[in-house]
Amino acid sequence: MKTKYFYFFLLLLFFSCENEEPMEPRYASLNEYPIYNGDDLGYQFSPEQTTFKLWAPSAFKARMFLYEKDLDGAIAGTHDLEEKENGVWTTTINENLEGKYFTFQTKVGDGWRREAPDPYSIACGTNGARTQIIDLSKTNPDGWTNDKRPPLAQPNDIIIYELHVRDLSISALSGIQNKGKFLGLTERGTTSPEGLSTGIDHLVEMGVTHLHLLPTFDFRSVDERKSEAERKYNWGYDPHLYNVPEGSYSTNPQDGQVRIKEFKQMVQALHQAGIRVVMDVVYNHTGRSRRSVFNILVPQYYYRQNEEGNFSDASHCGNETASERPMVRNFIVSSVKYWAEEYHIDGFRFDLMGIHDIETMNLVSKTLKEVDPTIFVYGEGWAAGDSPLAEEKRALKVNVPQLDPIAAFSDDIRDGLKGHVFTAEAKAFISGKAELEESVKFGIVAATQHPQVNYKAVNYSEAPWAKQPAQCINYVSCHDNHTLYDRLTNSDPKASEEDKEKMARLGLGTVLTSQGIPFLHAGSEFLRTKYGVENSYESSDSINAIDWSRKNKYLETVDFVKRLIQIRKAHPAFKMKTQEEIAKNLKFLQVKNNLITYSINGAAVGDSWKKIIVILNGNKYGQKVKIPEGNWKFIVRNGKVDASGIDFFGGGRLNVDPIEMIVLAQ
Ligand code: CA
Repeated sequence: MKTKYFYFFLLLLFFSCENEEPMEPRYASLNEYPIYNGDDLGYQFSPEQTTFKLWAPSAFKARMFLYEKDLDGAIAGTHDLEEKENGVWTTTINENLEGKYFTFQTKVGDGWRREAPDPYSIACGTNGARTQIIDLSKTNPDGWTNDKRPPLAQPNDIIIYELHVRDLSISALSGIQNKGKFLGLTERGTTSPEGLSTGIDHLVEMGVTHLHLLPTFDFRSVDERKSEAERKYNWGYDPHLYNVPEGSYSTNPQDGQVRIKEFKQMVQALHQAGIRVVMDVVYNHTGRSRRSVFNILVPQYYYRQNEEGNFSDASHCGNETASERPMVRNFIVSSVKYWAEEYHIDGFRFDLMGIHDIETMNLVSKTLKEVDPTIFVYGEGWAAGDSPLAEEKRALKVNVPQLDPIAAFSDDIRDGLKGHVFTAEAKAFISGKAELEESVKFGIVAATQHPQVNYKAVNYSEAPWAKQPAQCINYVSCHDNHTLYDRLTNSDPKASEEDKEKMARLGLGTVLTSQGIPFLHAGSEFLRTKYGVENSYESSDSINAIDWSRKNKYLETVDFVKRLIQIRKAHPAFKMKTQEEIAKNLKFLQVKNNLITYSINGAAVGDSWKKIIVILNGNKYGQKVKIPEGNWKFIVRNGKVDASGIDFFGGGRLNVDPIEMIVLAQ
């Protein structure tokens, strides 16, 4: 080749490879993208061949890179994908690719975009940088095919305990070997230095039915390349790959099979302990925006845009997903179905559910009920900011009547009990502030229609939003914001430890005797503290770890909670099944000045206790309550709980102590 032609050739090559003119978009708008309803996106593996499928309708070209390693290393093969119908790109490789890793790449308009792992990845290596090709059947622990969901007769039997995987075991006091790992939730017989149960045994001792785990899908914030000691803590609300367990909770994030097997071992151990497992799912936003896996491969489609065409941000995390778009909806629905089927997950807690559209949430619920009718779905019925999707279309608390049968958290009772969530010093019912009685009553009737609740006086709701009690999650604290103990310390700095314990018992006791579904923040039964840190999402273990020495220190309250859980399990009067039953059989008696008294007609709902009276006194002074005559026994009195009766009472005027909960039954 003559030199000048050679240079001309080089120039041609340069322009053809690097500086192509941007091409016109393939579709005029995101709404015109073709939809693929198949369930085989991702890869289909067999020892003979693996087929890859990627939905990327806006791409002009798509390809896949194979790798031997999960990070770094040379490309072991480049394979162009062929475009098929409905925006799907595919290739089949007739080799055994087991154990290899891959990424996809799309060419959209202005050139090749970054490599990205497959959004539909079911396995990946370190930090989810590359998808791993595995034989899923090899990830099942022994006995997995016999794994069964623990029995659940009806949703009102649920008692939820909310926990971060790492917090449970990371303290030296936990007595758990696999600290901070999924496997830490498989160890039995573990104890604190005082000889009290920790880990799973503690959950069994408390008697909770559902363990709700903070994010356990693969998230971004913890660098899995780092050693355990160097890794920074995070809650994990920054999703990366939705269908893969988080690598930092596994003993080996490089090999994708390990985290899957260990996650399944955790579920299996919890199921064997009689505890169901709930995943906290965060489909409302992705950890990254412009450079998320979704947005690299199919720009913009997975997200809502504001009027300027940028990412709208109802999550307050930089973006919000567009669940109303068919392929986003498909992704969310297929993802929860996958976790329910492959990992035997028993429930899903939707983070910022109020960002999602109602139709998607109802399809999620319907799909999961088809997998197993006892799978429970609930979520936060709010968003963190404004969304371009109209409020009437979103799964907000006020729209819960249209979400059947999905439940939502009651911030009404939460703040009614302990004070406004974002005002650290705010007091409320349990700390002696009056005029929140209607908000507490609203929770007692599980946010349903009741003739004796004045809805105009409820803090955040003007009307009942639960059609049935199982749609209402009652709680006094969770991972967000101050712990109950820290809030009490802030709002009442002069309160004695003894009084704080009484206030905590009153709050937890109210939740555990209310209709609806009770929810407990891990460690609240021993007055967990985060030393005043309100938002500990990236605080160190020293703030977040469960301090098991507190179990011994606050043993009376642990016992109080445990025994109330036993009573709740044994007495249908505290978990009536319908709004009608509650309206008919739960009557408020004396309600004034931060005192709430109500009765339940136990006989009418098949309870062995024919009549029940609950008295809640949030004041720092005693009150007198008139009790009808009868053969009453004290079930709860002075911080003690005994289902067989602490003492007897014939009725008449009863002195209720300061900050006290009393339950009487006959
Ligand atoms: Ca990760």
